[in-house]
Amino acid sequence: MNYTITETLSTPLAGSYDIIVAGAGPAGFAAAITAGRLGARVLLLEQGHAVGGIATSGFMSHWTGDTEGPLYDEILERSSQPEPEEFYGTSRHLINPDKVKLVMLEMLQEAGVELRLYSFVAAPLIEDGTVCGVITESKSGREAWRSKVVIDATGDGDVAARAGAPFKVGREQDGGMQPVTVMFRIAGVDYERAIFPGSFETNTAVPGGLVQDLGHTHLPHPAGHVLLYPSSLPGIVTVNMTNQTGIDGTSTADLTAAELACRRQIKPIIEFLRSFVPGYEKSYLIGTASLMGVRETRHFVGDYTITGEDIVEGRTFDDWIATRCSFDFDIHNVEGAGLDKDGAQRYFRAKGKYTIPYRALLPQGIEGLLLAGRSISGTHKAHSSFRVMPICVNIGQGAATAAVVAMRHETPLREVNIGEVQQLLIEQGVTAG
Ligand SMILES: Cc1cc2nc3c(=O)[nH]c(=O)nc-3n(C[C@H](O)[C@H](O)[C@H](O)COP(=O)(O)OP(=O)(O)OC[C@H]3O[C@@H](n4cnc5c(N)ncnc54)[C@H](O)[C@@H]3O)c2cc1C
Repeated sequence: MNYTITETLSTPLAGSYDIIVAGAGPAGFAAAITAGRLGARVLLLEQGHAVGGIATSGFMSHWTGDTEGPLYDEILERSSQPEPEEFYGTSRHLINPDKVKLVMLEMLQEAGVELRLYSFVAAPLIEDGTVCGVITESKSGREAWRSKVVIDATGDGDVAARAGAPFKVGREQDGGMQPVTVMFRIAGVDYERAIFPGSFETNTAVPGGLVQDLGHTHLPHPAGHVLLYPSSLPGIVTVNMTNQTGIDGTSTADLTAAELACRRQIKPIIEFLRSFVPGYEKSYLIGTASLMGVRETRHFVGDYTITGEDIVEGRTFDDWIATRCSFDFDIHNVEGAGLDKDGAQRYFRAKGKYTIPYRALLPQGIEGLLLAGRSISGTHKAHSSFRVMPICVNIGQGAATAAVVAMRHETPLREVNIGEVQQLLIEQGVTAG
């Protein structure tokens, strides 16, 4: 069966805004907050039940790397205020997903951002070759929303792809994408004795041997590595160990298959932890992520494409819109468990922190639309670094600041005065590049 149904749709205009942000993950949240604080009328559209994206609904363990930024710092500060029952002893970078959801909602409300959950952004609105809004599908039906600028922070660049922006997927040589993961949390861990191997290169000795070697032998393929992270709650540990390869995170069929495969791995993973890892003998499942952990999909062709070399060199671009970014090359093995040969975690060396150029947010051939978050223009290797959440927050802040400057002067996004954008970022507390 291979045919197409042609429909004539009449879509009501539901609202008009200065800026529409599609997707409320770390990048979209940061973009919406920034635009709201700078006085823009902002609509934030999110397909799911909550804000935070992978940080919250993806059950993330921690904000990773040494990236700095004022908005990122504010999120950490506001979400790491301990309750009496919590112990936050180790780091304010640890994530309590439900707490982060509440903090983010509070911040969005303070910034006057209009939020619409359960709204899938299905397509861009395009007039005279310029993106001027989006179309959502939801329980309320199909609705159109207009804006002066659209920021695509869907992770996969759904709006940009539907607008016809050119992209590649995965790694350059064969399109292979990093594996996906359903994160989960366990309780009952004895923190006095527990180990927390936080990178593939951490191969701690345990009574049965070396923990990563044991994982490779005993866990169901393509699972096989051991990544365990402490939390801010007593006895609770975040587990980043389910693993499914060969998945395209923009295919619903693949996402469904990956949910089933990853969830099938959870029981054997817990049995492995109980048998081989000290402190985990009495651990048990308490929750699984409601959002599939997709690491990599589309890499858009932007006016500039960030490379691995830019990151190692700690490059400062003249048109920086995010600064003080820092993380390793976190490339999970595209074919199985563990780290890819191009990845470097504990052994990563860079000359300094790096910047993100504005041009990487501009999808080639498209007007009225900015990318923010993991889908900006970068190589497979560069993406493995800038995809982490603190850097996505900085990118979101930069994208929204540029959008506000463009909106104030009624200039196309490509003609925005970058000096003015940078000045406005500095006024928000961003360190100059
Ligand atoms: C398993 C895993 C482990 C990771 N570990 C870490 C870690 O320890 N530390 C770290 O800092 N980073 C980690 N990362 C990386 C990081 O979480 C992501 O790369 C980062 O969250 C990307 O941010 P984003 O805002 O671009 O996208 P996302 O966080 O993916 O957010 C995108 C949002 O857009 C919504 N959305 C998507 N499509 C649509 C649509 N069409 N319409 C409306 N809404 C839509 C989604 O529901 C989501 O809320 C990990 C990633 C994964 C997958």
